[in-house]
Amino acid sequence: MKRIIALAAIAAAVCSCGTANIVSHAPAKVGIVAHRGYWNCDQAGYAQNSVASLKAAQDAGFWGSEFDVQLTKDGVVVSNHDKEYGPEKMIIADYTYDELARYPLPNGEKLPTLDDYLIQGAKSSKTVLVLEFKKQRTDEATIMLVDKSMEILKRHGLYDPQRVIFISFSQVACERVISKHPQFEVQYLMGNMSSGKLKKKGYTGADYNAAFYTAEPGLIKNLHKKGLKANVWTVDSEKKMRKLNAHGIDQITTNNPMGARQVIGSREHRK
Ligand code: MG
Repeated sequence: MKRIIALAAIAAAVCSCGTANIVSHAPAKVGIVAHRGYWNCDQAGYAQNSVASLKAAQDAGFWGSEFDVQLTKDGVVVSNHDKEYGPEKMIIADYTYDELARYPLPNGEKLPTLDDYLIQGAKSSKTVLVLEFKKQRTDEATIMLVDKSMEILKRHGLYDPQRVIFISFSQVACERVISKHPQFEVQYLMGNMSSGKLKKKGYTGADYNAAFYTAEPGLIKNLHKKGLKANVWTVDSEKKMRKLNAHGIDQITTNNPMGARQVIGSREHRK
């Protein structure tokens, strides 16, 4: 009998260690966020922030597809990362949409407006739109970008916290969303706020550069303790992904989403 009790105790200890290990080091699911869409593939024609890159991310079934938005001179919300656009490096804020759209993306697509982008976005509920508001020249313009984008999301039936989350380096943009649209997830990109401060200001998570997670090994845990999500940009090395995954990251933003899929395996979060 004593032997049975001893074996049961050992088994319980082994099980509890195993479980503890899973809880502390391996979250249930990790979302892969394709950075600027799943752009570096034939299907997308290697064009970042293109509609085709969003479609490729949706077709691959990644949890999220990130893209950047900003305003043209005539107030059109367009999807583009850099402030400049086209072969002549036209400053987007200084040109009208029609002037900019004379130049196609590398895959031949027209410069996508947010409307163009969301027509594709609405076609799949399996991939979350991770919408980044680019900081505009003035706070007023940044607020206008947020407000216009929200109206456009509503027109496409995508004003939905299950379908869209927001990220930005701009506290003005983030805090506009937090105050006017508090049901949505908002992750801050800059990296200069503690988990406590993020929580206090109403953010739902941090989307920080990988260097911040390296510099502060307890950051993911600290975010989780506050009930915040931990997202990271932009991690393309599978070695780094493995490490962040082991430490409990919630989302990995990457230009190498297929590599991330290999690393994460069965714990990949798919909707
Ligand atoms: Mg971005």
